[in-house]
Amino acid sequence: MSNILQELESEIASLKTSVTKSNVGVVREIGDGVAKIEGLSDVMLNEMIEFPGGLYGLALNLEETEVGVVLMGSGLNIKEGDEVRTTGRLLQVPVGRDMLGRTVDALGAPLDGKGEIKADAQYPVEKIAPGIIARQSVSVPVQTGIQAIDAMIPVGRGQRELIIGDRQTGKTTIAVDTIISQANQNRAAAEGKLKDHKPIYCIYVAIGQKLSNVARIIQTLENAGAMEYTTVVTEAASEPACKQYLAPYTGCAIGEWFMDQGEDVLIVFDDLSKHAVAYREMSLVLRRPSGREAYPGDVFYLHSRLLERSARLSEKEGGGSMTALPIVETQAGDVSAYIPTNVISITDGQIFLETDLFYQGIRPAISVGLSVSRVGSAAQTKAIKKVSGTTKLDLAQYRELQAFAQFGSDLDEKTKATLDRGARIVELFKQNQYSPIPLELQVSTLWAMQNGHFDDVAVEHVKDCQLKMEEFLSTRKDELMGKLRDEKAITDEIGAELKTAVEDFKNNYKSPTGE
Ligand code: ATP
Ligand code: MG
Repeated sequence: MSNILQELESEIASLKTSVTKSNVGVVREIGDGVAKIEGLSDVMLNEMIEFPGGLYGLALNLEETEVGVVLMGSGLNIKEGDEVRTTGRLLQVPVGRDMLGRTVDALGAPLDGKGEIKADAQYPVEKIAPGIIARQSVSVPVQTGIQAIDAMIPVGRGQRELIIGDRQTGKTTIAVDTIISQANQNRAAAEGKLKDHKPIYCIYVAIGQKLSNVARIIQTLENAGAMEYTTVVTEAASEPACKQYLAPYTGCAIGEWFMDQGEDVLIVFDDLSKHAVAYREMSLVLRRPSGREAYPGDVFYLHSRLLERSARLSEKEGGGSMTALPIVETQAGDVSAYIPTNVISITDGQIFLETDLFYQGIRPAISVGLSVSRVGSAAQTKAIKKVSGTTKLDLAQYRELQAFAQFGSDLDEKTKATLDRGARIVELFKQNQYSPIPLELQVSTLWAMQNGHFDDVAVEHVKDCQLKMEEFLSTRKDELMGKLRDEKAITDEIGAELKTAVEDFKNNYKSPTGE
């Protein structure tokens, strides 16, 4: 009898240890940033797994006898037979207001040497996106400060607008300019110069880029005074694929915290092509089967669950929003490759940048025909809507006619007028980098164009005339610009004053050649 009891006791003891032991596993194989772990039975997908020496990994493949864990650092010190433990936590990152002005990695750890970050909360990097009920439609603009975009492809708060184009076509510049524009507006609002403006905080996520590039972007943001409203999340090309893969989700979590506080956020993913490559690398080492263009089959889901998290929440949910500007790089302008088509179908429109235009000196090199914004016009202010209504069509017609006009010299009056107008709009939309234009000046310029005030200026002098007019208006017509800024509409009174101001300027304008 006592024998049986003893046997039972020892059996229970061994069962107990095996139950607790199930949270501890052993490395069976390691290499290429992936560890195969045996003996873990109680583990969740996306759970953090702790390795010796404080290294963490992410459980991504749950198989019958082993777990595939992707390492979030170099696994050089890990060897076969090492013990690992589950942590019972899905991956979380610190979030909060202290994140502003900081540069962090995919785990939310500071990279800028500016000391510790005081977190207001820990947020999971993966989260279910808000449902339909929790959302409201887009109706407040994001002023990008880029005239061609604000006039023709407007972006609203909560929208997802793709920036797409070949290498070196100015994709990053558009995103950086938009961030600078937000900082300028936030500052103006704080100084009481911009009425009813809700600030937008920005998150710039750099995925798989060169360190020197990211450093340059941060420097640009610093110089423009934009870092105080911005968080940079970066995982450079030299970092493990797993961390590059995580970076956009981390950025999203940081943004979600602001959104949950009822704030507005803008997030840039630069870029999702490199993100897909990092994910492909991870999947290949995990031996997942590859699909189209050798990307794993769930790459569409990867980006859709990321971009779905951008939203404009209903007032009941606090009314916060997260606007996303994902960037995708195309090869030789091919928008029908796998990743570009995926992301185009997930977003609410795209800003397509063309290499040809870029080299013709038309910068930003926005293709009018291929760029659209599906929801943004609902958010455009009255003023800009009034003066930009036909610009997109005018420009598109201009591009079409331009091809013919090269050959023939006798053009009828109407064609000539379209060409003249188009050439001037092209000039007006050229814009230097890092110099966003405030709404009231954009409206004034477009108003002047629509009312023919640039028609008698030679095309090559249009830019000069525009810049001098902007300066005249912002220094000499401060009060009028203030009214336009507050009203955000061209009332009869403002229209009349604008007319006098522009005529006043034109009467005294001398072009560089003195005409
Ligand atoms: P990559 O594919 O390397 O990421 P990208 O498409 O992000 O490139 P940018 O880095 O934004 O392109 O810009 C490429 C170059 O063009 C930079 O040297 C930038 O200074 C210049 N550039 C971009 N936009 C303008 C502009 N509006 N005016 C003048 N120069 C510009
Ligand atoms: Mg870039």
